[in-house]
Amino acid sequence: MASFLSDNEDLQYYLQDGIDWETVASVTELGYRFADGFRTAAEALTFYREIAAMVGEFVAEEIAPHAAQIDRDGVRFANGEATFPPRLEAITRKIAELGLHGLNLPRELGGMNAPMLLYFINAELLARADVSVMTHYGFHSGTAMAMLVLSLLEGTTVHDPATGLITRTRWPAEMAEIASGVAWGSMDITEPDAGSDMAALRAVGTQEADGRWTLTGQKIFITSGHGKYHFVVARTEKGSGPDDPQAGLGGLSMFMVRAFRDEADGRRTRLATLDRIEEKLGHHGSATVAITFDRTPAELVGKRGEGFRQMLEIMNHARLGVGFESIGLCEAALRLAKGYAAERRSMGKTIDRHEMIADYLDEMESDIVNLRALAMHGAFHEEMAHKKALFGKFLGGARDTEIRAHRQAARRTMPLLKYLAAEKAVEMARRCLQIHGGNGYMHEFGAEKLLRDALVMPIYEGTSQIQSLMAMKDTLTGILRAPQEFVKRMAQTRWRSLSARDGLERRVARLQLLSLAAQQHLVTRTMAAKVKTVQGQPLGTWRKALFNQWNPKRDFAYAMLHAERLTRLLADEAIAEVLLAQARRHPQRRELLERHLERAEPRVKFLHDEITSTGQRLLDLLAGGTSASSGAEKAAG
Ligand SMILES: Cc1cc2nc3c(=O)[nH]c(=O)nc-3n(C[C@H](O)[C@H](O)[C@H](O)COP(=O)(O)OP(=O)(O)OC[C@H]3O[C@@H](n4cnc5c(N)ncnc54)[C@H](O)[C@@H]3O)c2cc1C
Repeated sequence: MASFLSDNEDLQYYLQDGIDWETVASVTELGYRFADGFRTAAEALTFYREIAAMVGEFVAEEIAPHAAQIDRDGVRFANGEATFPPRLEAITRKIAELGLHGLNLPRELGGMNAPMLLYFINAELLARADVSVMTHYGFHSGTAMAMLVLSLLEGTTVHDPATGLITRTRWPAEMAEIASGVAWGSMDITEPDAGSDMAALRAVGTQEADGRWTLTGQKIFITSGHGKYHFVVARTEKGSGPDDPQAGLGGLSMFMVRAFRDEADGRRTRLATLDRIEEKLGHHGSATVAITFDRTPAELVGKRGEGFRQMLEIMNHARLGVGFESIGLCEAALRLAKGYAAERRSMGKTIDRHEMIADYLDEMESDIVNLRALAMHGAFHEEMAHKKALFGKFLGGARDTEIRAHRQAARRTMPLLKYLAAEKAVEMARRCLQIHGGNGYMHEFGAEKLLRDALVMPIYEGTSQIQSLMAMKDTLTGILRAPQEFVKRMAQTRWRSLSARDGLERRVARLQLLSLAAQQHLVTRTMAAKVKTVQGQPLGTWRKALFNQWNPKRDFAYAMLHAERLTRLLADEAIAEVLLAQARRHPQRRELLERHLERAEPRVKFLHDEITSTGQRLLDLLAGGTSASSGAEKAAG
């Protein structure tokens, strides 16, 4: 029987030794305290591996062979509702029968209490078969988990202190409905005039005279928005003026909204109108909708003004999900390309023997291993950070420093992973098509579908540019907050680059040094620009302005220009660090680090040089109020 797990050695490494599963299992089982839970790590691990093996076979046998048909049939819009083709309906039913919609929910809420890491491994497997099926699946369990996490955060989920079981939570019936597969939901943020710029959102939440909330506004591009349960971000606070945080992100709140009610007689009463199913380039097995709320009853989640922060909590999981989804697609692209290149002959040999094509395939192989290492690292720390913070009291009191370290590792990894995995998905799908030559352009071979599906990865769940801004801001504000730490880190890294006994460790340290030098350059340029802004102001105000009053939008122009280059560089550095840690534990992984360094070293030098030597001309144009393109036109004229 075909399996997308048993044919994938690198993925199997993570299911065996590559992840500290003992810790994951112990934390997930709250120290093995549940009467109906596992007694030991071994028991839990056997179960996790069985699930992954089952999913590996299911996706290879029952989804991948139908991906082209799902793509052709797509989701349709009829009588104000979305309709799915029979094949997709059957797959969704099977996923429900396998119990996968409740994979991560606690057992007392109808789930299997499996770790999120297992969900992400399954997500990669599903995405290799078809990304749109994976997305549709993700909005079942993802919505149920969002219900649980948001309820935990607002304090409406209560545990029995003795057993650790949940005795009360805010949406138990809804979670059970989702776990059984009959309902699912969505995360509604984007509007016609506000996507990346969330501060511009216009949908409003209004508290009516009787104290209840309603929601009004239109949301577009909503994945699985044909579902019942919607987490909607909307404005509840106006703010006193443009500088009041409440006029921006601080004025957003989170709502849980039911889009319809199914009546006992089988009719459906819609509480929000499905305007259309978006007609899109790819992802045809996933419904993307426009939906209008018109004084639709809504439940406020948490407190007013917390919407942006709550969204970030959920978004981290969603971004990890896109990371694993992209890896699944990359794996599909590599295998399709490799298979074709091994068969197709040109100029006396198969095309995989031609140097340029061999180089493409070699780089794709190495990139997938690198991305998976980064993704697993991020997923592990994200899960630990959340679970140790939420359930610390059942785990013998997790220490704050430990939770902070997990949180920082996850936060550092997330934008790098989302950025690089999404960009690589597009690159690999494009290469796969190119390797197919003219055949790649035809529907029949499946390469063009991969490219159409891949192109959305750098757009949704925060575009590549937004990920880059996040990575850059986090890096630079970290340095500005603790410059002495940065200087110390540089000195230590320089020392390791010269004196580490292991040659690979020296090479990783040299890579880190280049990264630190690029960061230092960005900070120095940013500081210099800031000093210019305070010149002419009373000296007494300088200290506050230089050390406390940072406005990333105003002060980071040079760094913003180079944010994507910095992100690419930081990703290479983070991958090298993760692979080095793996190589120390498992020497057979050394070769993977060497392969990464072979390509990363010259790339990082190049990125460092670009960051430290280009950009001023364009910034001068922008400062003069001229856009880059009109500047170029003038120059040409
Ligand atoms: C198939 C699909 C499914 C989706 N699913 C959902 C969903 O479930 N829920 C949901 O709420 N939304 C969803 N979206 C919407 C998606 O999240 C947005 O399209 C995305 O956030 C970008 O917003 P936008 O389209 O308004 O582009 P804009 O924000 O207008 O951006 C346009 C371009 O400008 C760049 N840009 C914007 N600001 C900056 C800046 N400060 N610096 C540099 N570059 C910048 C962007 O990176 C982008 O390249 C989906 C979109 C698609 C295509």
